[in-house]
Amino acid sequence: MLNHLSFNTPVGRLAPSPTGAQHVGNARTYLLAWLSIRSRSGRLILRIEDIDSPRVKAGAAQQAIDDLRWLGLDWDEGPDIGGANAPFVQTERIDSYREALARLQRDERVYPCTCTRTDIESAASAPHVEHEGPIYPGICANRSASDAAKLGDQPFAWRFRTTDQPYRFNDRVAGSQEANVRHALGDFVVGKMDGSPAYQLAVVCDDHAMGVTEVLRGNDLLPSTFRQLELYNAFGWTPPTFAHAPLVIGPDGRRLAKRHGDTRLATLRQQGVAAQELIGLLAWSCGLRPTREPIAARELVAEFDLCRVTREPFVFSVGQVFNLSGQA
Ligand code: GLU
Ligand code: ZN
Repeated sequence: MLNHLSFNTPVGRLAPSPTGAQHVGNARTYLLAWLSIRSRSGRLILRIEDIDSPRVKAGAAQQAIDDLRWLGLDWDEGPDIGGANAPFVQTERIDSYREALARLQRDERVYPCTCTRTDIESAASAPHVEHEGPIYPGICANRSASDAAKLGDQPFAWRFRTTDQPYRFNDRVAGSQEANVRHALGDFVVGKMDGSPAYQLAVVCDDHAMGVTEVLRGNDLLPSTFRQLELYNAFGWTPPTFAHAPLVIGPDGRRLAKRHGDTRLATLRQQGVAAQELIGLLAWSCGLRPTREPIAARELVAEFDLCRVTREPFVFSVGQVFNLSGQA
């Protein structure tokens, strides 16, 4: 007999980084990720992405959980409720990233890179990818993994040696995407100089280990998806499907940030905004509802269709939308 969780059950995840409070932009992405899975009776995993240690703020993981609960979202496995894929906090999964890195070393897919940021930036004509910093100019690419032993005390990162081949995938929101990672993005770090794993490696290990079949996230991570496809390929793992939702931007056209005022969910909540008001606004902004009328997230499930989600960014101005006092 087939297990009731058949192979076709979609598995998604909500993956907040506890680096600061969740804001309206995060909420929109979580809502879509949740709806996409819930509308197909799939399973959701909550994972706390806390490996970016210098930026992690104490209490922010619990804050993210509270924010998500307030929005009316839920999950089937997570740090607060447990589940088969535990642990759900990245700093508790470090061993699995180490093992994966060791595998890349054995297979000569990575090399030790001693370059500092300045070395890379000052390398002749290092071209920049928008918002992504310079393309790594290959200064250390002639090293092999075993050369790490000869570096003595010199600090180094582990850099993934990209392949010279185009990757193509069909993004379920952004449409067909193609890039040659080596030319467009360059070799990238999978193990940082301080010995901790980089986001690219951790996220691929986790999504694979947790059986995630669908990644829906903000389209600022579209370039990273190509890097992650390289890693899936190197490990021989099947990648999930990807959907990259347009971001929320401020009236100046830039990605929603502190400069646009306080759009933290905790603040909206304290100021008396009801979750249903925000969900109504977000659903309307995604093209899922004709008006901004308040609605609960669960009431959107039955009619949800990812194909209907708009590909335009949403311009948000907190003062105009919610009549709040004391805005920063
Ligand atoms: N933790 C990341 C963030 O909050 C999301 C990473 C991902 O979805 O792959 O931006
Ligand atoms: Zn280097």
